[in-house]
Amino acid sequence: MKLGIVGLPNVGKSTLFNAITKAGAESANYPFCTIEPNVGVVSVPDERLNVLHEMYNSKKTVQTAIEFYDIAGLVKGASKGEGLGNQFLSHIREVASIIHVVRCFEDENVVHVDGEIGPLKDIETINLELIFSDEEIIERRITKTRKALKGNKKLQGELEILEKIKTTLEEGISVRAMDLTEDEWNFVKTLQLLSAKPIIYCANVSEDDLVENNMENKYVKEVRAFAKTENAEVVVISAKIEQEIAELEDEERDAFLEELGLKESGLDKLIKSSYHLLDLISFLTAGPEEVRAWTIKRGTKAPQAAGKIHSDIERGFIRAETIAFEDLKDHGSMAAAKEKGLVRLEGKDYVVQDGDVILFRFNV
Ligand code: GDP
Repeated sequence: MKLGIVGLPNVGKSTLFNAITKAGAESANYPFCTIEPNVGVVSVPDERLNVLHEMYNSKKTVQTAIEFYDIAGLVKGASKGEGLGNQFLSHIREVASIIHVVRCFEDENVVHVDGEIGPLKDIETINLELIFSDEEIIERRITKTRKALKGNKKLQGELEILEKIKTTLEEGISVRAMDLTEDEWNFVKTLQLLSAKPIIYCANVSEDDLVENNMENKYVKEVRAFAKTENAEVVVISAKIEQEIAELEDEERDAFLEELGLKESGLDKLIKSSYHLLDLISFLTAGPEEVRAWTIKRGTKAPQAAGKIHSDIERGFIRAETIAFEDLKDHGSMAAAKEKGLVRLEGKDYVVQDGDVILFRFNV
């Protein structure tokens, strides 16, 4: 799962990205070990793994991971190919969703590109570049569809959606804010539009606002109000504090968070929101060798979930011995849960649920 971090210059992107790389997942656990400099990999926090780890006294715990891409280089005019514009846009095209860092801190030592802090204007600047790029795609597609039309009902329907998107973009509104039917969304997905990508607005506040004002200030309120128009999520962080947190060992880290009056780090909040945003869930596997979380899209069936572990298990799938994590936790062990009949034998049409602890049976 890839997420791209974007934002205007001097909003705190690098600071946040440094925190991400420092907090980085142990590379040994992940297949993609050669990581480019602009990629940070972090583990997805999952308390359930700790419980399973104790229950099974397992040797190893493997969390699932998220990749963050630092996509710097946006300037006004990117969609017209200015600066590193084209490269910037093509990087965004590759990510599943966007984290847009918005400056919500005042600091006279840090210059704002426009001279004053204005989250709405910042958001608009970036969103418009994506919108301009989408407009070009849509216009080309409209021309093509018109040519091919010749009474084709399906194409007629598509043309109507394309026209609707065009009008929206011309108003400076991102496609993700549109009110569309499921069928329409499925078509929109095939267009690979940048402004249709799910987004998290990451409001970067000062250390003081984080601690003293419960992470609120007038800028954050503006970001929230805007995000609402797009049904987008807002995560408030202080990039500077995140960087400090990322440098600490686990115990020190917990103490520091407590001192700040925080339940979890901003980075953890960001990771969890990203997971949610992309409609991802985790299923778990557990044994004395290792306990492990696996990422799947909500709605994935058992054999395809098994395929995440190994394609052989998907191919030879027989059944999934499944128990909900909470049931397993409540009974303290698999044996006790089995006695109560809580372990289900699920077949190939079973839709895997978040927190399912699964043992796959398969033919080799
Ligand atoms: P980028 O251009 O978006 O990558 O921004 P940087 O991460 O380089 O940050 C620009 C400047 O803002 C640096 O001097 C940072 O130390 C400062 N900065 C970033 N985040 C915060 C923050 O949360 N609080 C304060 N006071 N300064 C910050």
